[in-house]
Amino acid sequence: MANTMQLETLRRIVQEVDASPSLHEALDVMVNQVAEAMDADVCSVYLLDERNHRYVLMASHGLKLEAVGNVSLDTSEGLVGLVGQREEIVNLEHAPKHERFIYLPETGEEVFNSFLGVPIMYRRKVMGVMVIQNQESQHFSEAAESFLVTLCAQLSGVIAHAHVVGNIDVFRKPSSGPSYQTYQGVAGADGIALGRAVILYPAADLNSIPDREAEDISIELELLGKAVFAVREDIKNLDAKMQDSLMSEERALFSVFLRMLDDNALPAEISALIREGHWAQGAVRRVIEKHVNIFAQMEDGYLRERVSDLKDLGRRILAHLQTADTSHKEITEDTILIGEEISTAALVEMPIGNIAAIVTTEGAANSHMVIVARALGIPTVVGVTELPISTLDDAEIIVDAYQGRVFVHPPRRLRTRYKEIKKDEDQIAKDLKQYETKSAITPDGVAMPLFVNTGLMIDVVRGVQRGAKGVGLYRSEIPFMLRERFPGEEEQRAIYRQQLSHFANKPVVMRTLDIGADKDLPYFSIEEENSALGWRGIRFTLDHPEIFSSQIRAMLKASIGLNNLHILLPMITSVSEVEEALYLLDRDLSAVQEEEQVKITRPKVGIMIEVPSILLQIDEFSELVDFFSVGSNDLIQYLLAVDRNNPRVASVYSHFHPAILRALTKLVKECHQYDKPISLCGEMAGDPLTAILLMAMGFNTLSMSSSNILRVRKAICHVPMTDAQDLLEQVLKLNNPLMIKSLIEHYFRTHGLADMVKSNRTVTV
Ligand code: PEP
Ligand code: MG
Repeated sequence: MANTMQLETLRRIVQEVDASPSLHEALDVMVNQVAEAMDADVCSVYLLDERNHRYVLMASHGLKLEAVGNVSLDTSEGLVGLVGQREEIVNLEHAPKHERFIYLPETGEEVFNSFLGVPIMYRRKVMGVMVIQNQESQHFSEAAESFLVTLCAQLSGVIAHAHVVGNIDVFRKPSSGPSYQTYQGVAGADGIALGRAVILYPAADLNSIPDREAEDISIELELLGKAVFAVREDIKNLDAKMQDSLMSEERALFSVFLRMLDDNALPAEISALIREGHWAQGAVRRVIEKHVNIFAQMEDGYLRERVSDLKDLGRRILAHLQTADTSHKEITEDTILIGEEISTAALVEMPIGNIAAIVTTEGAANSHMVIVARALGIPTVVGVTELPISTLDDAEIIVDAYQGRVFVHPPRRLRTRYKEIKKDEDQIAKDLKQYETKSAITPDGVAMPLFVNTGLMIDVVRGVQRGAKGVGLYRSEIPFMLRERFPGEEEQRAIYRQQLSHFANKPVVMRTLDIGADKDLPYFSIEEENSALGWRGIRFTLDHPEIFSSQIRAMLKASIGLNNLHILLPMITSVSEVEEALYLLDRDLSAVQEEEQVKITRPKVGIMIEVPSILLQIDEFSELVDFFSVGSNDLIQYLLAVDRNNPRVASVYSHFHPAILRALTKLVKECHQYDKPISLCGEMAGDPLTAILLMAMGFNTLSMSSSNILRVRKAICHVPMTDAQDLLEQVLKLNNPLMIKSLIEHYFRTHGLADMVKSNRTVTV
């Protein structure tokens, strides 16, 4: 096959497979198309049934039909098993002569000599094996191998979509009722929740419209009629408006749109679906999807281009339908909020008490929304890439945010088990309450001051209630995110004053605006190709001294009479940035003192250690600042070169990584050598397993989400400093994050702290 042909064929197969309504149909399309494209006698797909350790023949072109769904092989059997075990291609000219060949009479395969088997891998796991066979003895070419490998890599996602760990229905014949499915994501904020799904979809996003039954068919038809009418009017107006600026051929699209909107065209198809019982939005999605798939498969490039026009038209109809619909926004008790991405701003506007859990297809454990969800104590799973959002409206769901698992339409047995676990959870939370009034002092008498991270008022309230010794990180960007414009100086002063006065007589570390990367302001979007390495934190504020100064001035004014303000600069990379920031601070301090006619104590100034360059210049920074605070969320991302928001690499992002632990150990020693206090305010401080290691390293304070304070305090009250130091010494000798984690877990399990080990609170299914 020529390369361009291959590409074209690959693209077509992947599109057809994507468009298939079920896994069974997708697999049929796959085997038929591949057999045709490769001119092979047989193409089969075997999927791994993990519970039974068998490869099940799920689809085949060329083998006997009766064998499909009925033939299976143990994972250690046959050539299929060999491909799975080796996780690599097996290419044989005379398969029956191979020692692993097993004769399966049900398949009628004795007549096939050549064999090419390719593993279907998804996130390092074997999902199944694709096999090509021919009667003629031949060694398959390298081109054939790479065609199949490429195809399997692309198709593995589709298979995973239905077959994700534990999706037992894959191995049953398709049934009509809702089926139990399990999805794997990344654990965000701990906890267990049972409830019903409410889908939060961005306005006019066709893909995320759920299937739903129409409550009243005539109302849905009427809504559609009005929406189509409105879109027609919009298009006519657009056409008229563009008359002077677009040529008539360019405006031809508008008449295409109007023809598509003719009563006998798309609206007729959509109405037919509504009459079958679909709600209008779902019917629009289905009809547009159907046409998009047909267009996408066309060989003609011009027609393929029309796909985006069709989608555009669909979105326009949808937008009008959605303005008329408000029902999907109801967040009642025990809501499991589901969406592709949920912004921090959208989250905090909701009735928080009713949200039992959050599940998103995008994002990773330390994205901003997750940090806020954690503060609010809402179990959260993110990066559930395979979750079929549009089919989940009102579905019964269990979220196990310890394991990052989501169970859709769970069976009774699982529901009962999780209800029990939830009860235990509530009990643990009750037991932890006694630690609200205790001090974080180890059994051998070492005090470890615990601070709280804040942003919302609820953090302040919970922080005070849980006995925080101060605020170790006030994320000042959070109030900025909740507004529709940059807040003015007076507005900011009032917000900061609240934070400072709730912790009067205790230090409050206020970080200057840290936007960019995943912290977007709704009114100031920074779109960058590589935003984590881009215009963020201090880089942004030094380019906008007016924004920086209004914030500093507001902080200084808010601190009058309280004198507990500390200022923290985020994303510092170089000494010159600190010098510039200090220059602005001193200038603002003099100006505010003069304006207010009061003496204001100059706040202590610190920098966040997030960028690895700082680790090599502690001596120079020590001359400029009063304290350091490690932002481990970002430091890990930059030291390990792993995006903290990318679920695909979530397993690489670990605060147990030996490089992180070793870097921090050295860092603390060096800071103490220069007599500078050092704190850690990333999520690592809130995990009891790492908190005790940080304590052993000598961190002066730890700052964490209010939801973690009691757990960490309990750990500190139970782990003598001498034990923590021993553990640290041991883990510093290990080179594997998982081994490090299990070593500490073992200690916890054997020292009365088993309830702090997350894996103790989960169900294995
Ligand atoms: C960090 O990077 O560890 C940190 C505390 O800052 P943020 O999570 O807000 O980026
Ligand atoms: Mg950070």
